[in-house]
Amino acid sequence: MKELAEGLCQLRGWPPNAINVYLAGDVLIDAATRRAERRILAQISGRAVSAHALTHAHPDHQGSSHAVCTALGVPLWCGQGDVPAMETPGGVTGASGWQTWVQRTFWAGPEHPVARALVEGDEVGGFAVLETPGHSPGHVSYWRESDRALIVGDVLFNLNMLTGRPGLREPPDAFTPDPPRNRESARRLAELRPALACFGHGPPLRDPGAFADFVGALPR
Ligand SMILES: [Zn+2]
Repeated sequence: MKELAEGLCQLRGWPPNAINVYLAGDVLIDAATRRAERRILAQISGRAVSAHALTHAHPDHQGSSHAVCTALGVPLWCGQGDVPAMETPGGVTGASGWQTWVQRTFWAGPEHPVARALVEGDEVGGFAVLETPGHSPGHVSYWRESDRALIVGDVLFNLNMLTGRPGLREPPDAFTPDPPRNRESARRLAELRPALACFGHGPPLRDPGAFADFVGALPR
């Protein structure tokens, strides 16, 4: 586990930075695919974890949520709009077309009851919840004003999923039910000028100018 800022750690994964899991205070943020259960539990063993929260209920973020919550006996929290997906058997989809089949077959975890539906302004692990819909109906990001640290989720990627190269980009349309709305969410996050931006996919970015420039160049 790597400390990115005080009270904010990124868990190790393979390939590095491909599918990210964070520990914010004592809250585990996201849980990768269902194959990640062992690597997550091994890295947080001995740490105080009081809850598990999602940026959104897609298969590459909630895959090990049921397993982690069950193993640790902690509640699951996610954005209000993603509660139905998380609680409905087979409800988690992250894509349209053939990708749905791939994700359901290899990545998605089982449904799990959501103990707390997160809304704008809620506090999670020392961060404030920001509603950032578009990539999913209930997508949320987590913002800590004191040091301008932001957990972006998938509003933007800092990775090209095909080449594995870092670089800012919008999430693929095939995985994003409402791209215009997601772009609005990206604009909102860029206005915050995060000193540290932590993505669902890709390495952390400590360059608020690059974040703002990328978003500013997106078509209106
Ligand atoms: Zn994702």
